[in-house]
Amino acid sequence: MFHFDNSYQRLPETLFSRVAPTPVSAPSLLAFNKGLAAELGLGPLPGKAAEIFAGNDLPEGADPIAQLYAGHQFGNWNPQLGDGRAVLLGEVVSDSGRHDIQLKGSGPTPYSRAGDGRAWLGPVIREYIVSEAMHALGVPTTRALAAVRTGDPVLREDGPMPGAVLTRTARSHIRVGTFQVLAARGMTEELQALTDHTIARHYPDADGPLGLLTAVVEAQARLVAKWMGLGFIHGVMNTDNCAVSGETIDYGPCAFMDAYHPMMVFSSIDRGSRYAYGEQPQIAAWNCAQLATALLPLMPDQDAAVAEFTDAVNRFGDIFQPAWIETFGAKLGIADPTPDDVPLIQDLLTLMAQDRADFTNTFATLDRDQFLQREAFDDWHRRWQTRATGPRTTPQVIPRNHRIEAVIQSAVAGDDAPFHAMLAAVTDPFTPHPDFARPPTEDERVARTFCGT
Ligand code: AMP
Ligand code: MG
Repeated sequence: MFHFDNSYQRLPETLFSRVAPTPVSAPSLLAFNKGLAAELGLGPLPGKAAEIFAGNDLPEGADPIAQLYAGHQFGNWNPQLGDGRAVLLGEVVSDSGRHDIQLKGSGPTPYSRAGDGRAWLGPVIREYIVSEAMHALGVPTTRALAAVRTGDPVLREDGPMPGAVLTRTARSHIRVGTFQVLAARGMTEELQALTDHTIARHYPDADGPLGLLTAVVEAQARLVAKWMGLGFIHGVMNTDNCAVSGETIDYGPCAFMDAYHPMMVFSSIDRGSRYAYGEQPQIAAWNCAQLATALLPLMPDQDAAVAEFTDAVNRFGDIFQPAWIETFGAKLGIADPTPDDVPLIQDLLTLMAQDRADFTNTFATLDRDQFLQREAFDDWHRRWQTRATGPRTTPQVIPRNHRIEAVIQSAVAGDDAPFHAMLAAVTDPFTPHPDFARPPTEDERVARTFCGT
């Protein structure tokens, strides 16, 4: 079903380790994404789909590898990470371009460290739902092609959980941390090869390392502006979870906010609130600065390069700010938003934060009942009406955490119907789905999210 053309495997071998997925006991298909399969030009689902997506049966042309990378985790340098529970089968090329096919949760690799190389059903379902919702919401993202149960238990903090494997696709899995590992090891030739590969693959118009950096800054600024417009909190914006393609990658303890607050954090491990909602733009810029540092060894004149690279990273705000205005302008039906509209947007957000108004439903309805300070909202609404001219582009439904948790619990108990129902709703996000629009009650509220490990 796949027609592979594996360009990453033609790069220097330091960048990866050849490793096959470890077979599982009893693969069974939980989900298969027909629409994505069609976009990728894959043929019909083969009879052995569950075996293929579990890693038991390698499709012809696959050349499985685990990719090496390093990264800053919560700001601390980690000299070696890499795919510890994933293998890249290869790349397929279709009318929609080149896409990685990766199995996540497919067994140990040379980069697994103390981990078991596996994933349990919960994070697989979470990534499937959230990544497909993000795509439907118009956000660049890795995607979910398939999910299987493995039939094997995976031991986690709360005891044995059902194992699962996610097949995800991406424009590539090249991360800021992929550049960092080569720079840190002084492997300039390999760094040059990776840079050439990345430019050819993602930014063919970019001129050398500075061109690449400039393009990544722009892609990240635009990406994070979209996240902000959805109340999305990635949760682990480490440099190894920052894709140079500008796609959202590595959905772990991510969440869409219900009640709005700019310093909202869900991830249980983000104790310093480094990756809070409102911190995301500056963290993305910081990640771009780490890419700049990693690219420096390629530059003959280091002093000149430092100045140019610094300018390139500092342009993050120049791209982010108008993108943010455009995003929130669209949400409010302002056809031609300008910096003069920032106070109007910001005043609504301030009111929402004070009243802990529901992020998605407030923009969807602009209804005074979302607020405690109704007169203040009425004043704001009058100001808004003088600027509102067009239709409002804002989702009616996002994947709410408490619903994802309920779906996972049902799936663990063997009932997949809630998963499929939720997936259908959140991949059609601009249509009302009243059942999925309701914010959590106090009892349902998920205060903390956890890494998929
Ligand atoms: P993450 O923050 O989920 O992107 O993962 C950080 C690092 O830990 C990556 O190098 C992962 O491959 C690795 N990792 C996460 N979970 C596991 C696991 N169960 N077994 C082995 N490695 C893992
Ligand atoms: Mg990661």
